[in-house]
Amino acid sequence: MKVESIWFQDLSLEERRFLERPSDSPLPHTTDVLIIGAGMVGLFTAWFLRQSFDGSICVMDSLGISHGASGHNTGGLFAGQTSHTHPRVFRDWAIQARELYAELATSDGPLANPGIDFVRSGSLRIDGKWPGPLSDFAASENQRGNHSQALSQTDLSDFEPLLSSRFTEGFYCEDDATFHPLRTALAVAHDLRRKDVPIITHTPVTDFTVSAGRLKTIGCTDQTISAGEVVLTSGWAAGEMSSRLGFTLPMGPVKGQAIATTPQDFTMRTCLLGPTMARQLKNGRIVAGGTQEFVGPDLEATEAGQRRVLGDATGMVPALANATLERTWVGLRPHTPDGMPVVDRLPDSENVFLAAGHFTKGVLLAPVTGRAIADWITTGSPTSDLKHLSARRFSGPAA
Ligand SMILES: Cc1cc2nc3c(=O)[nH]c(=O)nc-3n(C[C@H](O)[C@H](O)[C@H](O)COP(=O)(O)OP(=O)(O)OC[C@H]3O[C@@H](n4cnc5c(N)ncnc54)[C@H](O)[C@@H]3O)c2cc1C
Repeated sequence: MKVESIWFQDLSLEERRFLERPSDSPLPHTTDVLIIGAGMVGLFTAWFLRQSFDGSICVMDSLGISHGASGHNTGGLFAGQTSHTHPRVFRDWAIQARELYAELATSDGPLANPGIDFVRSGSLRIDGKWPGPLSDFAASENQRGNHSQALSQTDLSDFEPLLSSRFTEGFYCEDDATFHPLRTALAVAHDLRRKDVPIITHTPVTDFTVSAGRLKTIGCTDQTISAGEVVLTSGWAAGEMSSRLGFTLPMGPVKGQAIATTPQDFTMRTCLLGPTMARQLKNGRIVAGGTQEFVGPDLEATEAGQRRVLGDATGMVPALANATLERTWVGLRPHTPDGMPVVDRLPDSENVFLAAGHFTKGVLLAPVTGRAIADWITTGSPTSDLKHLSARRFSGPAA
């Protein structure tokens, strides 16, 4: 049985109803841009497009708004902690994404009310996954604008007194942040509704008709729709959709189980990234996770998964030893072999874009991805350097 994440618990009945069914408008028969998938990537794509594009836009989803991975993650905007193995341009993009959230969340920003709960909680990596001596790594990160510190064992206990003493080094990024992913999706979706962008939920895309390199019609349960441009923001399912459109993409689901405890009477100073991620919410609950399981689209939470995440979290924060679990949930991260998304035109198609495969960083990267696709549609060419995110990178050199 699928269990909803902790983020759903905070919402009012009215907010939940809105996510389920944001509008009563029927699916239009035609639209200038159709966005398939109302997760964070799809919502931000529509939102940025609405700022600069006069034509009609429609977003559709087989479920409610952000009922996929975007509603079932752990809400970290840990831009300073991208893997050093990824290209610099990608790692800098992550930092831009975090700062874009900061702008959107300011008191006069579009997402300020009802608020996305953006907090600069910092992030402390203790898994030793950095290249060479930590002090050299921190120095090079600072040079590229990632404000960070190399922490010794003594520093660690100052930065996070609750951390187990078995950790000897840490990489701290002071600008990293956390937020409430579902309230953010809600704020974006409300703004889209105010701007007359229909979001049609509970309407799965079932088939496509392609003619002369153009996607002509998109079939849903009992209707077809034609669109000038189509953006696949359907998370892990974008891999299957892309195959049906004639381009094989190695993209699929990676199951992630996450947990939330009951409110704790201690206070964590920062977010920890070690064998798992652990952070504390305003209400005292600890959120931790998630697992990375290559088991297909399986949404069942398991006792083994729950034990593993709680065990890893307790290994970092021994004070969790007697914590009571409130819930365990599952999200399906969209995965590609290099852990980076595809943000590109679908090869050999005149009117399909792909924006999917963000793996562990999708809620962080959603606004910069949405802005990049919106700019591309509006201007006719990509405005940012997206070569490293091309669809063809898995099948040979970029075209
Ligand atoms: C446990 C866990 C923790 C995570 N923590 C973080 C984190 O701290 N920070 C971070 O940045 N990321 C995190 N992630 C990853 C992040 O959640 C994802 O990368 C991101 O949500 C992907 O967003 P998306 O919009 O591409 O996909 P989704 O949110 O999955 O949205 C895709 C949408 O497409 C719809 N769809 C699919 N098929 C069809 C169809 N046939 N017709 C119509 N609609 C369809 C789905 O219903 C879904 O709503 C985490 C993920 C998990 C599971």
